[in-house]
Amino acid sequence: MALGQKEFRMKALWMKIQSLFYLVFGKNYRCDCGHFAKQKTQMTIDGQSSIYTLGKTHDYCPQCWAKAAIRCAWCGETILPGDPITLYTPCDQNFKPPEYAVIYKKTPRLQLVGCFRRECAETGLDRTGFWMMPGRVQRAASPMEILLHANPTDGPMIFNDLGDPNKAILIPDEVAQPEK
Ligand SMILES: [Zn+2]
Ligand SMILES: [Zn+2]
Repeated sequence: MALGQKEFRMKALWMKIQSLFYLVFGKNYRCDCGHFAKQKTQMTIDGQSSIYTLGKTHDYCPQCWAKAAIRCAWCGETILPGDPITLYTPCDQNFKPPEYAVIYKKTPRLQLVGCFRRECAETGLDRTGFWMMPGRVQRAASPMEILLHANPTDGPMIFNDLGDPNKAILIPDEVAQPEK
């Protein structure tokens, strides 16, 4: 595929996220972001339809949630709040990240936020965090980090639900020290 075509394809994918539509029911709730939203909102992102359900605390409306989406530094596809991510460092020192790439850390080595799609993440062991509202990295212990630090049973360790922040060992920002 010629580079131009590829760029166009990425752009087209990204444009789809803007074409949200709402099939809404129930009463309006005021969210902490200041917008009003229904309890459930149907939305289409990258051609995939799903229902956005307001959290119990009504913190973010679906628009603000979708606006916090970013693009993977490597494949350019969408990363939504709540998605698992990788924080790879480019092998090539002269690598110029695309302008939409999100930098997690510049020092001691450049780390870019990437998606956890099979084509992008080398292995499940590379799940190093989650993309969270309102647009930040929540570091989480990757299975590799867990293996290196403690394996109390000495037996094989089984990891599942790598995509679920509720089942991850989260690492506080003070410890992770992301780029400010
Ligand atoms: Zn909002
Ligand atoms: Zn990717």
